[in-house]
Amino acid sequence: MLTYYNHLHSDHEGKVEMFRGALVPCFEVPARVDRVLAELKKRKLGTVLPPNPFDDSALLGVHSQRYLDFLRDAWDDWVALDPANAKRDALPSVWPVRTLRSDVLPDNFAARMGLFSMDAGSPLTDGTWDAARAGADCALSAALAVAGGKRAAFALTRPPGHHAGADFFGGYCFLNNAALAAQALREQGLERVAILDIDYHHGNGTQAIFYERADVFYTSIHGDPSTEFPFYLGYADELGAGAGLGFNRNWPLPRGSGFEVWHATLQQALQGIAEFDAQALVVSLGVDTFAGDPVAGFTLQTPDYLQVGKTLAQTNLPTVFVFEGGYAVAEVGVNTVNVLQGFDQQAVVNKESA
Ligand SMILES: [Zn+2]
Repeated sequence: MLTYYNHLHSDHEGKVEMFRGALVPCFEVPARVDRVLAELKKRKLGTVLPPNPFDDSALLGVHSQRYLDFLRDAWDDWVALDPANAKRDALPSVWPVRTLRSDVLPDNFAARMGLFSMDAGSPLTDGTWDAARAGADCALSAALAVAGGKRAAFALTRPPGHHAGADFFGGYCFLNNAALAAQALREQGLERVAILDIDYHHGNGTQAIFYERADVFYTSIHGDPSTEFPFYLGYADELGAGAGLGFNRNWPLPRGSGFEVWHATLQQALQGIAEFDAQALVVSLGVDTFAGDPVAGFTLQTPDYLQVGKTLAQTNLPTVFVFEGGYAVAEVGVNTVNVLQGFDQQAVVNKESA
């Protein structure tokens, strides 16, 4: 497994997030990626490289210019709003819901932050842009490696990406790494790209970015949004729109679901990808499906992740893995690398029997 590691990930380190009226310590911490990197090195699972640098224009296939401008300058604008803010994480506190206008760009920074966000759980810090930007480079590097003939590559990065939309952050996510990888594969000439999202939470940002497109098929297995974040998207009746109708498929499962039902659902999701006749696969790899995860509700066990990797390799598709959630810090490294190792093992078997 070729890994592109975000060497700047720890520049993004939020202090607190808003949870049901309280400011609580962040679940999305640098140790998550440190654990995965340590496990990769322990098992000697392929090469670990820094990302190749890409120009900001490489992000415009997924994100809007005004959102990128906002995100790049956000920390400086936050401190300019009040010098005392330099010691505080930036969190939004006002949003333009429904009848309020989202077409105007207010001068007030707190108002702009609300315009470009979906929750108050995603602190924006001094290093958020640099970390997210290097993460995007990891996703783009992995996509180009796979487009160039690698069987698979892994973007090991945080903050995660799948909740980030074309013009908003939220759910700990700022730039949508999986969407950037899929778009890069398209621009490299692959005509049909599938995104499989196996994070516990629905990837609302990724779905929205490709919802009206027939060239990128999005399918996700996740906790039922009627009880689980992100609540407002991820239902089974969301099938795509316009030219994209039929190219979106959601598999919400009840909180408490275990590996047997989860894996059977994975087989169904993969059947959809096969019917789409995908030429490449992007996997939003979250391991917050683990039983011990503090912010999720499925009951997968550590050995199950080896089987997940094997099942994914049976698609025989060139595959980009993008790291998403997984907040049981002590187990996140073993669980994530189990998926990658299971994939590599099955890929060898496939090659020998081809
Ligand atoms: Zn998640």
